[in-house]
Amino acid sequence: MLTERIISPEPAPDDMEDLTLRPSRLDAFIGQGQIKETLKVAIEAAKKRHEPLDHLLFSGPPGLGKTTLAHIIAHEMGSEIRTTTGPVLEKPRDIAALLTALKPGDILFIDEIHRMNPVVEEMLYPAMEDFFIDVMIGEGPSARTIKLNLEHFTLVGATTKQGLLGSPFRDRFGILSRLDLYSKAELKRIVTRSASILKIQTTDDGAEEIAQRSRGTPRIANRLLRRVRDYAMVKSDGTITRENAGQALSMLRIDELGLDELDRRILSVITDDFGGGPVGVKTIAISVGEEVRTVEDVYEPYLIQIGFIKRTPQGREVTPAAKKHLTNPQKTLV
Ligand code: ADP
Repeated sequence: MLTERIISPEPAPDDMEDLTLRPSRLDAFIGQGQIKETLKVAIEAAKKRHEPLDHLLFSGPPGLGKTTLAHIIAHEMGSEIRTTTGPVLEKPRDIAALLTALKPGDILFIDEIHRMNPVVEEMLYPAMEDFFIDVMIGEGPSARTIKLNLEHFTLVGATTKQGLLGSPFRDRFGILSRLDLYSKAELKRIVTRSASILKIQTTDDGAEEIAQRSRGTPRIANRLLRRVRDYAMVKSDGTITRENAGQALSMLRIDELGLDELDRRILSVITDDFGGGPVGVKTIAISVGEEVRTVEDVYEPYLIQIGFIKRTPQGREVTPAAKKHLTNPQKTLV
């Protein structure tokens, strides 16, 4: 199961420390330079005009910092944030209750916004554009709609798939930003920062080793740091080095590129069972016993980024580099 995977970018129960690790200011947010620049300008301009920020949509794989950015925006704007997720907003009254409670300038953060009920989504249109909603009162012949005015708020949406949002919805966001997987150098800075907050001693190449195996994702980097800390405490004086980081992660069956059992199974299904591809993502998902959404959102982005899988109109194909890695994981260079 996904939640049991050590490299899963979804939040896990022991990620509570993430709250301490979450940067609260834009300047402390590492990487995603262009998004930071856009936000800096938008925040400054909104503050100068004494107006709430435009609605924003963040997209990208889980664990890259979308929620963190929403909190940073609230902090930088000096406003309050209310958070919810798309799937829990089932009925119009769910979203009506949230919207009518907002104060001027508040941020409403909706995670997984692509999974919201279409009826709820439609209610958001006039709310986003003209700051009002139509609410149905009563039932049957005596039912009537009343218009409720809302305070000027900022909607921040997060989605793993921008493509799943219809254009009428997407067009109502003033700023659309796509977060990319992080480079090894950026992840190393994140690991070093987190280690210092958690008071963990690490050598420079110890942090680098963790960064190398974090598959471009800060949440995974922070989680691996905690696993390696435990190992270093038990096996040595607690200082993280390249050596004990490598040993700890190999013990968890995370290889030098950050791939785990399931990544390797995906690659070997395409290579061995389907002659290297092309093969459809549904078939791959069934073969490895995972949901299509998980394969697409969680596994593929990294496998594509490191050049192990190619997306073609006919389906997924593995590359020679992936085949080489499967036969000799230790020898593959990034
Ligand atoms: P998402 O909402 O995209 O799933 P989160 O915002 O919850 O991701 O980020 C996961 C964790 O990773 C955060 O708690 C934070 O500690 C860390 N993190 C994410 N992005 C950064 C960053 N750019 N710099 C430092 N830490 C980060």
